[in-house]
Amino acid sequence: MQEAYLLLGSNQGDRLQWLQQAICMLALLCGNLLQKSSVYETAPWGLEAQPHFLNLALLLETDKSPEALLESLQDIEEMLGRRRAELWGPRTLDIDILTYGNEVMHTEKLTIPHLFLHKRRFALAPLAEIAPNFVHPQLHKTIATLLAECSDPLSVCLYDGFLAR
Ligand code: AMP
Repeated sequence: MQEAYLLLGSNQGDRLQWLQQAICMLALLCGNLLQKSSVYETAPWGLEAQPHFLNLALLLETDKSPEALLESLQDIEEMLGRRRAELWGPRTLDIDILTYGNEVMHTEKLTIPHLFLHKRRFALAPLAEIAPNFVHPQLHKTIATLLAECSDPLSVCLYDGFLAR
């Protein structure tokens, strides 16, 4: 068993409903959900002329390898209507592997920890809520420190609390 931190995001349609469905599918197909952050509303990164995202971070306990986990995540994205169009463009659902245990890997399909984790406030803020003291296995800094040092100017706000929990 390994513990992986994941980031879920949606900026199309009923964003909260996509996240809730993804959480159900993850629990069914990928392992045990040990922790879940609040939901955050975040400004789009990369391609700015698109709706704001809702994001949340999860801790998943899984017996899947990183590659098998990625395949399952992509299956869930497909099942929930994701269509791959533009890079960084709008999507009903995006699921990224932020970290997988303390592994560091870089293959054609996977970079772990996620290549942009330390550069994106929309990933660091939810992750810092559930794992402030987790040490980034490559940068050797805690998530709380990486968030404090992050220069990403894009806004990240807690989404309406009673819906999000
Ligand atoms: P995206 O369009 O943001 O979902 O990017 C998906 C692509 O990023 C996939 O084809 C993956 O092979 C690749 N990728 C590389 N590293 C990761 C990671 N840590 N988590 C998820 N996808 C990854």
